Amino acid sequence: MRAITFIEKLRFEPDHPEPMPTEGECIVKVRLAGICSTDHEIVKGYMGFRGIPGHEMVGDVVKGSPEWVGKRVVAEINCVCKTCDMCQAGLSSHCRKRTVVGIAGRDGCFADLVAVPEHNLHEVPETIPDESAVFVEPIAAACQIIQQVSIDHRSNVVVVGSGRLGLLIAQVLAKTGCKLEVVGRNPKTLLFCEKKRIRSTSVESLIPRNDRDVVVECTGSPQGFDIALSLVRPRGTIVLKSTYADGTIPNPAAIVINEINVVGSRCGPFPDAINALARRDIDVSPMVARSFPIERGLEAFQASRQPENIKVLLKINPR
Ligand SMILES: [Zn+2]
Ligand SMILES: [Zn+2]
Repeated sequence: MRAITFIEKLRFEPDHPEPMPTEGECIVKVRLAGICSTDHEIVKGYMGFRGIPGHEMVGDVVKGSPEWVGKRVVAEINCVCKTCDMCQAGLSSHCRKRTVVGIAGRDGCFADLVAVPEHNLHEVPETIPDESAVFVEPIAAACQIIQQVSIDHRSNVVVVGSGRLGLLIAQVLAKTGCKLEVVGRNPKTLLFCEKKRIRSTSVESLIPRNDRDVVVECTGSPQGFDIALSLVRPRGTIVLKSTYADGTIPNPAAIVINEINVVGSRCGPFPDAINALARRDIDVSPMVARSFPIERGLEAFQASRQPENIKVLLKINPR
């Protein structure tokens, strides 16, 4: 099969061996896959990953239990043991023996075929097109914030970072009715916010007032944390969404003195993300900048690094 692999460097392989499903797994034929910031971090050495990257996709089940074969699906990325203490406690995304599709110990979806546990699959309703369904994984990560932190119409919330994830988070948070603002560098993405009637401010014109209840940091860079600290109020909450290969922790004194809650936030609920798309709460269509066939995957990675390309997709087996 065709695959993009990362072993020291990224390459396109026209004839990579097909995945062998183990007990309880299905094989999904990938239609579309999305390149996200985590994929760029993997190429820089994040998680020491070796293999086929990619964890955002929509595809068709072609092998596995008859109950699933033929269905159009998205797949949760944490593959879990169901027996460890975390799994038993209902915290399976923190399974101690987990592998993560395209991120840790398991091949991902930048390939014709990917093996995923049947348990991880969610069928995509017909009303959601492939170009939207491919965003379910990062939208779920955005939905996780409102599972972890209480946000309502009284909350003053700022999203620091107007990249791929920031724009999804802003749209999810906007639905809570909170007082919302997005801070970013890229005029194109800030304009996207304005079109969605979400207030946006460029980093340069930001006034650090320490008056926000909740600050969501999703810049993907260590400087984002400093900006978040300059905005959050005493006893407020900073939600951290960035994962970087090498980052420094700022001086914790400001966190201690102002008694800031720092909440790490990762994967989220797929059903909520699917419902948000089905209800059209979230509009992803203006976010897709370019699509490439898998053979041009390396070029797609390059394009995805350009700030003017908000989201780049790989068309692997498009319909
Ligand atoms: Zn991702
Ligand atoms: Zn487990």
